[in-house]
Amino acid sequence: MRLIQNLSVRRIIVRANPQVNKNQDHKSQAHDSKNHDIHGDNIQNQNQENKYKHDNNHKDNHEDKSKNNILLDIRNLTVQFGTEKRPFNAVDNLNLSILENEVVGIVGESGSGKSITALAIMGLVDHPGRVFADQMQFNGIELQQLTLKERRKLLGKEIGLIFQDPMTSLDPCFTVGYQIMETLKTHEGGSAKARKQRTLDLLEQVGIPDSKNRLNTYPHQLSGGMSQRVVIAMAIACSPRLLIADEPTTALDVTIQSQIMSLLRDIQEERKMGLMLITHDLAVVAENCQKIVVMYAGQVVETGTVAAVFENPQHPYTQALLKALPERAEGAARLHSIAGVVPGAYDRPTGCLFNPRCSDCQPLCIEEAPNIRNIVYPNLQTLQTLQTPETQQVRCHFPLGLRGDK
Ligand code: ADP
Ligand code: MG
Repeated sequence: MRLIQNLSVRRIIVRANPQVNKNQDHKSQAHDSKNHDIHGDNIQNQNQENKYKHDNNHKDNHEDKSKNNILLDIRNLTVQFGTEKRPFNAVDNLNLSILENEVVGIVGESGSGKSITALAIMGLVDHPGRVFADQMQFNGIELQQLTLKERRKLLGKEIGLIFQDPMTSLDPCFTVGYQIMETLKTHEGGSAKARKQRTLDLLEQVGIPDSKNRLNTYPHQLSGGMSQRVVIAMAIACSPRLLIADEPTTALDVTIQSQIMSLLRDIQEERKMGLMLITHDLAVVAENCQKIVVMYAGQVVETGTVAAVFENPQHPYTQALLKALPERAEGAARLHSIAGVVPGAYDRPTGCLFNPRCSDCQPLCIEEAPNIRNIVYPNLQTLQTLQTPETQQVRCHFPLGLRGDK
């Protein structure tokens, strides 16, 4: 948090597309669906050619660095429900990449497609859901090309998933010890004695006291916090390289929430895992993540480093979410809230999906769906220490940084 507060306010710059006429105004650029980069008025008089070089060099350097440790690389993931004639995109052309040892926060209100994204990565979207993607690579392996058996083998071992509700993730008919040992048996084999010892070690690692006696406990005998610890133990049992945690603290008391979060972070740091942390709590993201992906109605509306997005949100939705943080509401009589709800299957508006709730909706926002576009910061000193790309992306015709009133 301190890092974010201390960052000086930087002007946004913009990675301009050299193909596009530099004198175009914002509106006409937004109309150009091929132009995915944003131009700012503040750079009109600068040497743009140099800037493209600078930005592209920087990006290339980053790509060189990260090529080898990129864990998850998803391009244009769409998950459809509904009929073929009247489909509903629960997830809509989502791009996501996670590096080794990187913590990426996925945020958004209920119904924005966070859990379905996690399930699609794990190959767990059931009929009638349909999953399409240009690319779903894990550690260089294209998941879509694997047979069901190969995919099962990989998932659970290399990628761990903590489901949204710890109480329903455990089977009530079997003891905690049996369930963890079964996970180990499926993916790692080994002797029964070794599996039992490993289970005891895991229970201890996740902070369950008296682990020997806990082996024979049934899930209903555990508190919410203890159940979540067991679920974490199961998810990390086979030392996955990527852990997907779907709202791991939502169902828990506030005091237990912070214990579970620090447990997760300790495990992540120790094992240098990639962590995809799904949450609707921006404070959790600020404290734990390097990168943030803001989702709304199945789409990524903004993404970037936590430092950049918290300091300079470009989408009105992100800005509203940040305003709703109690830490940012000092002196206000009431906490900020966003009127309305995320549109469901059959009430999605035309144009920008956020337009009915946006306080600054323009005619263009109703006429045309915005593409996601890049914003690049010129002063990268503070961000260079972070592993993640400095590029911030936003899906808005009129990003906040380019409005005159900002
Ligand atoms: P989040 O986790 O962000 O709260 P979800 O990923 O659970 O949201 O859901 C995204 C959208 O997909 C919601 O509108 C939800 O109603 C819809 N959805 C989820 N599962 C199904 C399903 N099996 N059939 C139809 N729609 C579904
Ligand atoms: Mg969910």
